[in-house]
Amino acid sequence: MGRLGQQCRVDIVEKSPAPFGLVRYGVAPDHPGTKEVERSLGEILEDGRASFFGNVAVGKDVSVDELRARYSAVVLACGAPADKELGVPGERELAGVTSARRFVGWYNGSPEDRDEPIEERLRAARTALIVGLGNVSVDCARVLLRSPRDLAKTDMCQHAVDALARSSIERVILAGRRGPAQAAYTAREIRELTNMAGVHVWSPENEVGALFEADKEELRRDRARRRAHEAVSKAVEAWRGISESETSRSLHLRFLQSPISINPSKQDDSVVGSVTLRANELGGEAGKRVSKPLKATEDVDADIVIRSIGYKAVPIEGVPFDHRAGAVPHYGGRVLSETGTDSVQPGLYVCGWLKRGPTGVISTNLMCAEDTVNSVVEDCEQGRVGAPTTGEEEFDGIELLLRHRGVRYVTLDGWHRIDHAEREAGSQRGAPREKFTSVESMLQAAGC
Ligand code: NAP
Repeated sequence: MGRLGQQCRVDIVEKSPAPFGLVRYGVAPDHPGTKEVERSLGEILEDGRASFFGNVAVGKDVSVDELRARYSAVVLACGAPADKELGVPGERELAGVTSARRFVGWYNGSPEDRDEPIEERLRAARTALIVGLGNVSVDCARVLLRSPRDLAKTDMCQHAVDALARSSIERVILAGRRGPAQAAYTAREIRELTNMAGVHVWSPENEVGALFEADKEELRRDRARRRAHEAVSKAVEAWRGISESETSRSLHLRFLQSPISINPSKQDDSVVGSVTLRANELGGEAGKRVSKPLKATEDVDADIVIRSIGYKAVPIEGVPFDHRAGAVPHYGGRVLSETGTDSVQPGLYVCGWLKRGPTGVISTNLMCAEDTVNSVVEDCEQGRVGAPTTGEEEFDGIELLLRHRGVRYVTLDGWHRIDHAEREAGSQRGAPREKFTSVESMLQAAGC
């Protein structure tokens, strides 16, 4: 980045009082290795050229236009805060049906999801059905099947550890609309799930073994998928012939199944009791396999239904949005005025899931951010955006504006105080941290 890097000042505006977004509120608590990235992100916050403004919602406390008026470049990195829906009867009305986004937010202590009613449902629930075969589904299944004693040592919030300890969950069903060769989970994640101690793994032979020539061709071409499929087949084979009743918890893997309705329980018609699955077959050539509905249906008991079929970015006021792609139209991270045009919104950039849609792991997002930053630097160097502010006295960011509006923003010092208090609280139970689960408690800990 050369000279620009030394002169550059970066203000980080974050809706939550705490930094780190999905690393804090999305990554599974029993994957502390993944959370190590917080250390590198923390170093960036500590850099003298960076400032943190937590508890500032763009679109509410400050608009994109106000940001653009104050900074040479504005990079939108707000991710994908909503989720896709199945669009089947019962999905919205019945208690016990939720999204993976809400469930993950709930166990990770996101203030927005603290009131998730799943906490109450867990007490009586025996079977949870998760729709989708991605890594988020695998995270949800693992958390439901893991021993609460193990979870208590992680940074999972106490309310979630307690609720999971009280839960009666015996069976978790993962159901995907396509076959075992098309599952989106990665080998490491599915291997960890299917190798959990004392968890019986089952999948109908005609589903886990449903591999036609095009599916075999997909597996031949893609080593990662092949390894994921091998892990599943091996686990299912290892448990074949052993009764599910010999273990206290089990995992069912269902392939080529689409939920067509979520049905009320026979005892209480306000809560979910079962899901009707419709069988699918696959059509199309390798790499383009699509599911086609068959006639056969099956009712499967489920006391909790979690749809985990992908996150969704939402439009931001004042920023173009491509509704079909579910992302902001861009060229190398430069926001385009309209989808399909090449006219750029000067000084406005995008990165992460808001730029590419909700796929990809942390390293994918790092590369994505680099691509956007390269565009910012190039535009600055070529004079396409205003020169970066060079001196403290000339710099007029959003601080005055926020103060004027009475926004209780959290600074880096404030975050240090929250962080310290959370680590202290966690150490009492031998956990890395116990997170605050309300915005107000975080603001008080931050001293604002
Ligand atoms: P994902 O990987 O895109 O998986 C979504 C799943 O939902 C797929 O199985 C997809 O099936 C299914 N689906 C989509 N629409 C559906 C519909 N209408 N009906 C039924 N099924 C539907 O998404 P994700 O699990 O939310 O993960 C998001 C990203 O975060 C991924 O890149 C993932 O790897 C990453 N992540 C990584 C980790 C980790 O590394 N430990 C943990 C969590 C998340 P089709 O394939 O048929 O569309």
